[in-house]
Amino acid sequence: MAKAAATTSTAAASNILDVLIIGAGWSGLSAALKLSQAGRKVAILEARERIGGRAFTHTWSDKTDVNDNARTTSSPNASDYWCDFGSSWMHGYLEGSPLKQLTDKYNIPVTIPSPRETVVVGEQGPLPQLLSQKLTGNLGKAQEAAKAAAHDQSATPPDVSTSLGDFLYSDNSPLFAGLESESEKTAARELARMLHIPLGIELEKASLKFFGFENAFAGTDAAPKGGFTAIINKLVDEVTSLGTSIHTSQEVQSVLDEDQSSNVKITTKQGQEYVARTALVTIPIAVLKKTAGGLFEPALPERRLETIKRVSVGNLNKVLLHYDQPWWNGNTGTFLVLPSSASAPASIKKDAEKKLWELYSSTTLIVSSLSGDGAGASNSLLVMVGGESAKQLEAFERLDAGNALHAYLTTRIVGEASDKLPKHVFYSRWAKQAFTGGATTSPVSTAPGNSPLDFEALSRPLWSGRLGFAGEHTEINHRGSAAGAFVSGEREANRLVAYLDKFHPRTAANKL
Ligand SMILES: Cc1cc2nc3c(=O)[nH]c(=O)nc-3n(C[C@H](O)[C@H](O)[C@H](O)COP(=O)(O)OP(=O)(O)OC[C@H]3O[C@@H](n4cnc5c(N)ncnc54)[C@H](O)[C@@H]3O)c2cc1C
Repeated sequence: MAKAAATTSTAAASNILDVLIIGAGWSGLSAALKLSQAGRKVAILEARERIGGRAFTHTWSDKTDVNDNARTTSSPNASDYWCDFGSSWMHGYLEGSPLKQLTDKYNIPVTIPSPRETVVVGEQGPLPQLLSQKLTGNLGKAQEAAKAAAHDQSATPPDVSTSLGDFLYSDNSPLFAGLESESEKTAARELARMLHIPLGIELEKASLKFFGFENAFAGTDAAPKGGFTAIINKLVDEVTSLGTSIHTSQEVQSVLDEDQSSNVKITTKQGQEYVARTALVTIPIAVLKKTAGGLFEPALPERRLETIKRVSVGNLNKVLLHYDQPWWNGNTGTFLVLPSSASAPASIKKDAEKKLWELYSSTTLIVSSLSGDGAGASNSLLVMVGGESAKQLEAFERLDAGNALHAYLTTRIVGEASDKLPKHVFYSRWAKQAFTGGATTSPVSTAPGNSPLDFEALSRPLWSGRLGFAGEHTEINHRGSAAGAFVSGEREANRLVAYLDKFHPRTAANKL
């Protein structure tokens, strides 16, 4: 990954940077690309040692020891496996996602998976296929009905405090259509809990009023070969070749509006000072919740701080179990594992693993079987845990999380805990990561005063246009996605180019 050395501090006016970007995730890099293409001098300050933020591809090989805790970020070799632990799908790939332009430009092959069988796993094991289909079909129809109810122009809109759960679990919800027995209805209720995973929050906390209001990129999902880091690495190569410098391990601690020079001065925890005409903040919303109060001088307006506090952040984590051979039916693409009341088997001795069993059995899990095409790992299960359970998972160590999950899934799917443990385990802990603090913004919550306009408010520039804000949390239509972060960076870059062209037009002396 190309990286340029720090060159700026209090530079001479002719040499001054046009834009300092805080954060080298999708939004920061996309802004840097547009700005540097417009001939503007840009530097990116990134707190982590690595680039990519919530784009993070883990790679490993057959030689990787199961006890090895390394977080590998290097590009995979031909014989390596890889798996994305942040963003993994380019949604709406054939329907206008801006990420397609990047994979086309950089010649990165993509995989569009063909549909495979989905199996719902109930208390007594996998449900009959007809019932699985009925339950998943009903959930799809119930979500469509929820969107229709939320946006029915001829009806009074629901109150913001009415939750998606209130609608889905109501007596005449399509969730229960054609289901006879109480046990089938319970299964339908528990299946709906899988929505914690894409939402990041519990059904009872997501507001019905704004469910599905976004006009997001949707349709075909595609995965880039080599993972999301493969695109990020190419983006880094391009922006650095255009003159942008990227300074890693620089945690921004103060952003100061310098009155006299109308410049922005940024200081990092590592003691470096950087000055530019403008700054673009792409720090994730969960981090801003903790730091925004003391980061800026002059301080952010009270109203902005309130919005930052109000916007809800969801939780989502992934656990990967990689085996020599699959122990499950390889024709199945996804298992939807419903909660269970069964207690941990006697073979589980460790306290942490017993607690993890309880954690897994209290929630609905989405378990994808990775067969090597596109996902980078064969003979693997990638398990998604959402909402509060995702956060609780982060208290546990990697191998405990993996081994307990192995015992849980083998018991639930094939009827007994197998002692043939996975040979590689990896998991994410996004809430614990100081520079992420959670997964992404969640859909609008039921808390009073919340609305999608909060995402718009978070995008508004301050300091007469010199201080901009980008990131997934600033996109009213595309929040929570890689494409959303990307378009937010482009949006702010366009605005900053117009600002700079007006107040600091490029001259022969300051052209790159
Ligand atoms: C588990 C998970 C699964 C996801 N799956 C998908 C998916 O399949 N498809 C999809 O489209 N989206 C997905 N997303 C969402 C997507 O990953 C994010 O929306 C997107 O990556 C956010 O980009 P960003 O630039 O806004 O923020 P980030 O990528 O978080 O970038 C912000 C950067 O700022 C840095 N930073 C923070 N504080 C400071 C500081 N003080 N100083 C300097 N730097 C700082 C951080 O280190 C980080 O690099 C997923 C997210 C998660 C967590």
